[in-house]
Formats: sequence, structure tokens, C-alpha cells
Amino acid sequence: MSKLLRPARVLLLGPPGSGKGTQTSRLLKRFGIPGISSGDLLRQQIENKTEIGRTASAIIKEGKLLPDDIMTAVIASELSSRSWLSPTQSFLLDGFPRTEAQASLLDNSILSPASAQLNFIVELKVPHEVILDRIANRLVHVPSGRVYNLTYNPPKVDGKDDVTGEPLSRRPDDDPEIFRQRLDEYAKLTEPLVDFYKKINDSALFSVAGETSDIIFPQLEKEMIRRFGERIAETIV
Ligand code: ATP
Ligand code: MG
Repeated sequence: MSKLLRPARVLLLGPPGSGKGTQTSRLLKRFGIPGISSGDLLRQQIENKTEIGRTASAIIKEGKLLPDDIMTAVIASELSSRSWLSPTQSFLLDGFPRTEAQASLLDNSILSPASAQLNFIVELKVPHEVILDRIANRLVHVPSGRVYNLTYNPPKVDGKDDVTGEPLSRRPDDDPEIFRQRLDEYAKLTEPLVDFYKKINDSALFSVAGETSDIIFPQLEKEMIRRFGERIAETIV
């Protein structure tokens, strides 16, 4: 259950490797806000060998973005199957929208009709060198999207997920050359979203900077409480 007084509909923006996945899990744990990661959804489609998975696999390998209409349809169907399109539901989006076209489609055709527009747009700012170092040391558990870092946050058992014990893997698109391509795509297509949201909902924007997720999270936590209020645990009688 959400521990917030008012529903938070959050978008996490930030370059690849800026720790969106880590902040997502911490916000879920701290406030009970569930999230959708577009990248995790696509990696699951690839694992399950679906039609979309086949398309995605080729594009992701090159560090390019999927077409806006396909991506928007994937997210729309996920939002509705989880019954999140309601003005009282809190949720978080990681990795979508990633272009202005996606942001307009999301706002006009999906969220506005449900009176569930985004009300908290978070921009994560992490130095470039830190990001590059992080990617070189990143491992993921594909089914859950849990992320590990060999330096900061290693798994308890080498190469195995802490919760399920299943094997961890490297993301093929973390290869240095592909990664550079993803950083470029971010700068070109996604960074302009900050201005886009500035125009449509300036007060929802919040920028937070830091070298590690441990430095960023407390700032995010404080801002969440300031904006959405915290439910005090009810006493059981
Ligand atoms: P990180 O997970 O390190 O923060 P990231 O945000 O670049 O990095 P993912 O969100 O996992 O990575 O996405 C991986 C790939 O999936 C992208 O490079 C892209 O090819 C595809 N993808 C994910 N979300 C979208 C989207 N909204 N639009 C188009 N393509 C997407
Ligand atoms: Mg991610």
C-alpha cells in the first residue's frame, strides 16, 4: 500500500546508467510506489521470444530507440492491465516517455483522459565519468530488473541474484561502443523533455544531482514527502 497521502505519478528522467532502476526499487520499498521500466519490459519480451521482443532485440543491440507508436502501445497496455489509469493510483515510470512524441501521446491519449497526468518529473544528474565506470561494472537479473554493481552493490553470492539465486547477466547494450550511442540518443532525444515539461507543468519538475544513488535517494525522499505527504502508521487497537 502507498504510504503517501496524495497520489504521486512520477517520471524518472536521467541518462542511461544514472541509477533510475536503483531509485525505482528504493521508492517502492520506502513509499510503496510501484513502477514500470520500459527497458525491463522489453528485456522480458525478448526473454519470452514475443513478436515485440524480436523487434526490440535488434534495435536495442544498436543502442537505438524503438518506434514511438510501438513503445507507447506497450506502456499503455501495461498501465491498463495493472489498473493504474486512475486519479487515486500512485505509480512511477522509468525509461518512458523518452521522446517528445512519446510524452505527448502519453499525456494526451493515455493519462489526461484518466485524469492521471504526471505530477512529479524527476531529473537525475550524475557526472559522466561516474556513469561510464558504473556501466563497466553492472550486472542485472533480467526477470526482476534488479541491478547490481560489482563495486558498490555486489550480489551476496558471485554472479547470482540475492532473492532468487538465479544467474545474473551483463546487458549486451552495456558494451562500451553501444553505450556511447545510448548516451548520444539521450542527449539528442530525451534531454529536451525537461523543457517540454517545463512548458506544460513547470511546478512538477525536480532536479537532483549526486555521484551515487545513496546521495541522491535522501534528497528524493525528502522532496516526495514535501510534495505528497506521508501517511503516519495507524495504531492497531
Ligand atoms: P539504464 O537502464 O542504464 O538507466 P537506459 O535507460 O538507457 O539505461 P533501458 O531503459 O533499460 O536503458 O532501455 C534499454 C533500451 O530499450 C534502450 O536503449 C532502447 O533501445 C529501448 N527502449 C527503452 N525504453 C524506450 C522508449 N521509451 N522508447 C524507445 N526505446 C526504448
Ligand atoms: Mg533502466
